[in-house]
Amino acid sequence: MALFVQKYGGTSVADLDKLQKIAQKLYKLQQEGNQVVVVVSAMGKTTDNLVKMIYDLSENPPERELDVLLSTGEQVTISLLSAALESIGARAVSLTGRQAGILTDSNHSRAKILDINPERIMEELSQGKIVVAAGFQGADQQGEITTLGRGGSDTTAVALAAVLKAEVCEIYTDVSGIYTIDPNMVKDARKLPYISYDEMLELANLGAKVMHPRAVEFGKRFGVKIHVRSSFSQEEGTMIREVTSMEEKFVVSGIACDVDLAKIAIIGVPDKPGIAAKVFTRIAGAGINVDLIVQSIRKEQENDILFTVNKGDLSKTLSILKEISDQFGSKEIYFDENVAKISIIGAGMANSPGVAAAMFKALADKDINIEIISTSEIKVSCLIKKDKINLAAEIVHDAFMLGDDRLTMV
Ligand code: ASP
Ligand code: MG
Repeated sequence: MALFVQKYGGTSVADLDKLQKIAQKLYKLQQEGNQVVVVVSAMGKTTDNLVKMIYDLSENPPERELDVLLSTGEQVTISLLSAALESIGARAVSLTGRQAGILTDSNHSRAKILDINPERIMEELSQGKIVVAAGFQGADQQGEITTLGRGGSDTTAVALAAVLKAEVCEIYTDVSGIYTIDPNMVKDARKLPYISYDEMLELANLGAKVMHPRAVEFGKRFGVKIHVRSSFSQEEGTMIREVTSMEEKFVVSGIACDVDLAKIAIIGVPDKPGIAAKVFTRIAGAGINVDLIVQSIRKEQENDILFTVNKGDLSKTLSILKEISDQFGSKEIYFDENVAKISIIGAGMANSPGVAAAMFKALADKDINIEIISTSEIKVSCLIKKDKINLAAEIVHDAFMLGDDRLTMV
């Protein structure tokens, strides 16, 4: 008897018809002699609508109430799916995050899972029930409802797969896998048969929205393979798993584009120790993630510091900088929202010289100016003008022949 953990995202459970189809699939799987745990998201755009409602009422809603509200979305789905299962003769039980034993810290709207007590789930499974668990939610030590951050149902599913020792966690979604690049941007995009956890983490953090980054971290930590596949077809998707050193690795597996950024430049700060520490400690203290950072020498004893933040964090960052600017005495602070980041990711890159150069050349050939460059072992990112991002996506995808059937391997 195998144990299956499956997760269905918002578009996959968007209406009753879809829920009924999923119920049939789950029941069949169980009747074939398997144990089934299913994690679901809120239906369609429910979470977005709930967010809008509370913000229409209050500019700054209490975090606790926001989580109490948002967690209701998934609760609607679990009860309906369980009822759909029962209506076709299956035995099923819906469980909220707390009932499913998901203990989190108390950071509302971005809580981390600390522990999972699987007793209740195991008990229900042993009674022959299909367990329908709410994604995206848990409870802290005090029993307060928490949520895991937008897209967090993926994390619930992988964490449950880990604690229940399922070999694979299947993520059913509205795309048929992980692509070399967003197929909406480049029509030659190709589905990858597999990708390593590290590459997927980079992709997820760099703006590919398919998977919640924390879910990939869980997968890596507990060795749970994650199969990302379409809920609307039978075809195999993409397996996120460890790629061993014996296996072939793609030089470049994928490309991520992020247009949700703003660049900030602090011009003419004194060249002395402690300035960067001061600036970035304050920004981090406000919970703002900083990405590409560059410091360059303007002239003797003066530096410029450039960095990017998410567009949503721009005004908060600017007001922090204004507040502390007399402490580091910069001449000017600029910002630019007309920027975008294109990144290539590939585990094989570390062993292939010239990958970054090939990317720069492809951009240069189309006269695309690079404003900031940042690299790691498995990625190269370039900040460019936002209005060039589609062209850049196309040509970089081409430059690494990612649309071809045979990807370049090392
Ligand atoms: N319903 C939540 C969201 O829309 C969580 C999820 O779907 O994963 O972000
Ligand atoms: Mg999702």
